[in-house]
Amino acid sequence: MASFPRARFMAIALIFHFVYIFSIFDIYFVSPIVSGMRLFAIERPTTSAPPASRLVLFVGDGLRADKAFQAHPEPYPETDKDLTPRPLAPFLRSKVLEHGTFGVSHTRVPTESRPGHVALIAGLYEDVSAVTTGWKMNPVNFDSLFNRSQHTWSWGSPDILPMFEQGAVPGRVDAFTYGAELEDFSSDAVALDYWVFDHVKEFFAEAERNKTLYNALKQDKVVFFLHLLGLDTTGHSYRPYSKEYLHNLKVVDKGVQEITELIDSFYSDDRTAFVFTADHGMSDWGSHGDGHPNNTRTPLIAWGSGVAKPELYPEKVAPGHDELSADWNLDHVRRHDVAQADVAALMAYLVGVEFPTNSVGELPLSFLAADIREKAEASLVNAQGILEQYRVKEEKKKSTELRYRPYRPLSENGLTPERRVADIRQLIVAGNLEEAIEEAAALMKVGLGGLRYLQTYDWLFLRALITIGYLGWIAYALTTVIDLHVLHGHLQPSRTTVGCLVFSSVLVALYASFLSSKSPISYYAYAFFPVFFWEGVFARRNSLVEGRKHLFGHIDSGASVVGLFFNCAIYVGIIVSLALGYIHREVLTILFILGAFWPVAYGFSFLQKHTALSVAWFLSCAAMSTFTLLPAMKVEDVSLILIGGAMMVVIGILYLAFEDFVLADFTWLEKPSPQRNHISRALVGIQIGLTLLSMVVTRSSALSLQAKTGLPPGNQVMGWVVLVAPFLMPLLYRLQPNTHYMHRILVVFLTCAPTFVILTISYEGLFYVAFSALLVSWVRLELATYRFTLAKTTIPKVATGSTGKSEGEPKLDSPFRPLTLHDARVALFFFVLLQSAFFSTGNVASVSAFSLESVSRLIPVFDPFSQGALLILKLMIPFALISANLGILNKRLGVAPSALFMVVMAISDILTLYFFWVVKDEGSWLEIGSTISHFIIASLLCIFVALLEGVSAMFIAGVEVAGPEVTETAVNGAAAETEVKKVNGTADDLPAATKPE
Ligand SMILES: [Zn+2]
Repeated sequence: MASFPRARFMAIALIFHFVYIFSIFDIYFVSPIVSGMRLFAIERPTTSAPPASRLVLFVGDGLRADKAFQAHPEPYPETDKDLTPRPLAPFLRSKVLEHGTFGVSHTRVPTESRPGHVALIAGLYEDVSAVTTGWKMNPVNFDSLFNRSQHTWSWGSPDILPMFEQGAVPGRVDAFTYGAELEDFSSDAVALDYWVFDHVKEFFAEAERNKTLYNALKQDKVVFFLHLLGLDTTGHSYRPYSKEYLHNLKVVDKGVQEITELIDSFYSDDRTAFVFTADHGMSDWGSHGDGHPNNTRTPLIAWGSGVAKPELYPEKVAPGHDELSADWNLDHVRRHDVAQADVAALMAYLVGVEFPTNSVGELPLSFLAADIREKAEASLVNAQGILEQYRVKEEKKKSTELRYRPYRPLSENGLTPERRVADIRQLIVAGNLEEAIEEAAALMKVGLGGLRYLQTYDWLFLRALITIGYLGWIAYALTTVIDLHVLHGHLQPSRTTVGCLVFSSVLVALYASFLSSKSPISYYAYAFFPVFFWEGVFARRNSLVEGRKHLFGHIDSGASVVGLFFNCAIYVGIIVSLALGYIHREVLTILFILGAFWPVAYGFSFLQKHTALSVAWFLSCAAMSTFTLLPAMKVEDVSLILIGGAMMVVIGILYLAFEDFVLADFTWLEKPSPQRNHISRALVGIQIGLTLLSMVVTRSSALSLQAKTGLPPGNQVMGWVVLVAPFLMPLLYRLQPNTHYMHRILVVFLTCAPTFVILTISYEGLFYVAFSALLVSWVRLELATYRFTLAKTTIPKVATGSTGKSEGEPKLDSPFRPLTLHDARVALFFFVLLQSAFFSTGNVASVSAFSLESVSRLIPVFDPFSQGALLILKLMIPFALISANLGILNKRLGVAPSALFMVVMAISDILTLYFFWVVKDEGSWLEIGSTISHFIIASLLCIFVALLEGVSAMFIAGVEVAGPEVTETAVNGAAAETEVKKVNGTADDLPAATKPE
């Protein structure tokens, strides 16, 4: 009977969380791209040419700034002299020292190839909603430098080039790409760069023979784009300190030199501008995506026609340097840093085309070889382009808002955009050029501020709405839990006409305002949930009153109220400290160290009675506390993998040796052991064998990949066998089931063990062992403390629940005991363990870093989808363990299977709400991006817990445990410990398979 409200609750939880995750998209991920802007170009008399006739853009994909300039020994030394550090990109360096301007180009997050290229070439920071399309497709057509050019020819990866080709006027951009098969991970990735250089060389050779092509190349305003993916691929495979990466840098430098010389001699007019940069950097562990400075700092070197010569400060440290460039040996050359989108503005200026219409880049004047008048002109045009976007967006907003509030700096005191532009024009005419430049720069800042203002116009209202929604959900969920699992659903909701009227008119009012301002359809859903939840809570106010009596009935004195308050504060404090754990994993270390002493709280007599268990708990907590101190970014360590695997094998063998002891609930039987279940023992043996096999295969594959001899096909096949076979083993146990819960936990443990070994990079195997030990001791300790508390205090809590009061006997309706305050703590422990299942071996960054060592033992070729699926499998395994254990605990404590899960679903949104509040609305995109991902993870957690309940039901199907018999005993008044022991004994000493129902 309870299954219908439960299913309804789950369905509401799922829909609510999915819908509310999208609120983030409406608040933070609204695309900044609009259309309908006028174009602005620097007006020149027909007699004067733009700074350059053509532009060549080289992008060293994944080249981080310091590696481009540092000195390193020869990657593949042949003589002793090669060991002396030297710059590995001598050609680019000569441009910095003698011919051009250089600096660091700072990217935004996500530091991925697509947004990086969009910033470079279109001058806009793509909204993160592009994530949802995998950054492959063009979610919105945006303008780009290539689309402004007379014609663009591009060479490189099929993942990057097509988006600029498809977004542009048909026929304007030519993209020459290699096939995806060339991006094979195990082959040498410099092949990708050679492919590009070779094809460009062929292309110019062809132009000498082909008159049409020759003429096309000789036009003005043409762009050549060379996308060099090799560094990104070698960086992922071998990391940026590797000889492979550094060698690839040499290849790129050589290629850039050859292409530069080729183009210079093809045109021989010195009218070509060259820009070399990267789309994003690369972390020390060979990844990118997050906002670590190594990922956001890329080199920018420009030279050729229209570019300023280096500013030299002999014998001094030139301006612009910091500790980053301290070891570049370029101290005497001025360093000019830019934001990544500024590169688009620079290139548009150099080749003499309009700024791309969506560009927010600010022209870096120090890169220009131009007089101050030209710089002032260019800045003004730049500012006009940005203001134009503001104008279009503001008009759009004005047309839908009832009472539009304009952006103050662009409306007050008559300082309209037009007026400010005219003022700057006046300054230029009057020759106040410095001032004009300053004013234009200030105007650009104001314009960007205005764009941001419009982008965040709806935030205050939406955030308030979403917050009320989440609070409503928490209240609604707790009310439902009280209704179902404390009162066992014997109270009906009571609705009044006035109440219905109030709630429905709130909804109607909200919908009316959405309708008038043409709000997105999703707003209607955001408004629906808060009204729905709070109405539900209001209708069930009687349950709340009744539930308060049941749960808090024993709290009558002032002191106990204070105590309850104190406990609640600690409770919420722990949940919020988990939020800090998302950023600082060490928080979990502290929680585990504190948790290790938990049994002490039950006093000396408890410790005396459960010494071994308390010690086991203490040790496993202590072991768990170490993992969050280890780095989340792991370096492959074969011996740690093998130690972890060996411990799993030893646990399996110990189980076989001491099966009788374990199945008797860790007591030595005095009577003869029951008949042994030989089939299940044999199957456990096979599982141990599979774990051993996975260790052998993993070791061999890891060593051969480290030696770069590729993955032998035999290893790959065996790898898949040890990955798949263990998951079939649980089916075989049906031949002769052993329903004892300890046996089931061991089977689950051994089922996932081989997978965990083969997908491990370093210490994760040790974590798997410690985590399993912790879970088993947790389940046993919870039961022990529960029985202990019952026995010791004749339990006012349960007595209240089970003797019932006015509305009859709740126990009659349900086979399960009602929840008590004690269970709230169990739910909290579960929640902490849930977090540690993820954060013990990694963090958000390490997941997005996508470390591939482990999965390349199974899939050596780069295949993000399948490799990602394997990584997710590995992430999920600890959760499978935890859900199996919680399922067993549920049974042993005698509460309804879903009860504890539902409590966690309610409290987990305290975390979600916390993350929703701390989402940054200002500051760097690094902060905004990471806080948003935390919010999404926290929201999904609730859905995830709902799924875990299903997983746990699957794992523990048919398991029999010694349940709450003791409860009966205790409640019946015979609370002496001897009695408990006796019941304990009779229930547990029976062989599991023959235990009476
Ligand atoms: Zn990239």
